[in-house]
Amino acid sequence: MSFVFSPPAAASVAIAGHTGRFPVRRIYCVGRNYEEHAKEMGHSGREPPFFFMKPADAVLAADAGQTVDMPYPSLTTNLHHEVELVVAIGLGGSQIKSADAHRHIYGYAVGLDMTRRDLQNEMKKQGRPWCIAKGFDHAAPIGPITPAAEATGVESAPIALQVNAQVRQQGNVAQLIWNIAETIEQLSAAWALQPGDLIFTGTPAGVAAVERGDVLHATVGGLAPLTVRIV
Ligand code: MN
Repeated sequence: MSFVFSPPAAASVAIAGHTGRFPVRRIYCVGRNYEEHAKEMGHSGREPPFFFMKPADAVLAADAGQTVDMPYPSLTTNLHHEVELVVAIGLGGSQIKSADAHRHIYGYAVGLDMTRRDLQNEMKKQGRPWCIAKGFDHAAPIGPITPAAEATGVESAPIALQVNAQVRQQGNVAQLIWNIAETIEQLSAAWALQPGDLIFTGTPAGVAAVERGDVLHATVGGLAPLTVRIV
């Protein structure tokens, strides 16, 4: 087979302590999955999980110890940070039961679901899709993936984001409304998961705007941290 032009290189993410890289197929994201964040967005109560996606090439992958530059996106004056635990899928499947979900996990990483909040609010108001608010170029910074076998205690790990060394977001993965296994069950009921899929699991409270020059430092327990400079 020949292509009429060269297909783009696969987006990929570093793997902590390994030379191989994780090729990205799809990026799924869970909305409002921590109670305090749901409240700050004007919602309350446990609602069924809902999902949106970012294109795979929205990945902005940081190598271990690297500060990665994120260009401030066009069309917004209210770029928000959302620190999230990212689950990397290594074994595909449909209709996965939560009790089996762990078998499908390759590993975990720290990610940022960067959001054009002004555009998202406008799209919500008009009942329009969120793509322009969530799926823009470089909208998914992500640190190296720690293989599941080497990542202990993720289910109850502290999750935090500092901006210019000031704490902005602080929570614990144990506060997820839909935990990792339940999220995989619900997601795989809607789409067949495949190796290479990433799941951004939601953000704790404290989302706020960043400006050019800000340095974001995101952590989840002992996972490789993620540092991003807005340029
Ligand atoms: Mn999010």
